[in-house]
Amino acid sequence: MKDGLTRLSALFGACRDRALDLFAPPSCAACAGPRAGKPPFCLTCGEPAPALPWGLDGVPFVAAGVYQSPLAPAIRRFKFEGHSELAPELARLLGARLAYFGLEQALFVPVPLHRARLVERGYNQSALLAQTLARELGARVSPRALERTRATEQQAALHRRARGENVHGAFRVRTAAPRRPVVLVDDVVTTGATARACVDALRQAGSRVVLVAALARTEGKF
Ligand SMILES: [Zn+2]
Repeated sequence: MKDGLTRLSALFGACRDRALDLFAPPSCAACAGPRAGKPPFCLTCGEPAPALPWGLDGVPFVAAGVYQSPLAPAIRRFKFEGHSELAPELARLLGARLAYFGLEQALFVPVPLHRARLVERGYNQSALLAQTLARELGARVSPRALERTRATEQQAALHRRARGENVHGAFRVRTAAPRRPVVLVDDVVTTGATARACVDALRQAGSRVVLVAALARTEGKF
């Protein structure tokens, strides 16, 4: 009986918290403050600066914006502070830039995390983005098409040349090569070394990569 009451009380608590969440004002993805404008950023944080379309080894590359405020703090919260709930709002920013590519036949494939990092973080941020993008654009997603065969150092800690060496050959296609045209999804592209290594792995397996899509691109580092 006591157990039953405890469970009931916990259930009531969870329902109350959920109800409060529903009535809480929407918050800004970057500063976590109240947001009155359109998602995901408040009026103070503003809109991301657009990133020019680019190419990576002959594959068009599209980002939602430049890696600076408000995208940079939002991505840090999304990636490093456990705010996986930001995935849909952030993915929609990118989805708006992909809407004109006609990607209904595409397969969205995220850059994979190494198993150890996936366990530590609890989610692959790029896989969450790929899932929302595929859903919004009427395409398919294969969250585990690629795997990271070895743990690599955090790219952010490395110089440009070392980044290429760090990730070279670190990815492989897990089972059969995707036959649909592939859109590779990453969170942030800096030198493009990680994306190139993934494109190489997909091409070697016989897949065709038609687009690389990322939330943000750092300026002037290609
Ligand atoms: Zn804000």
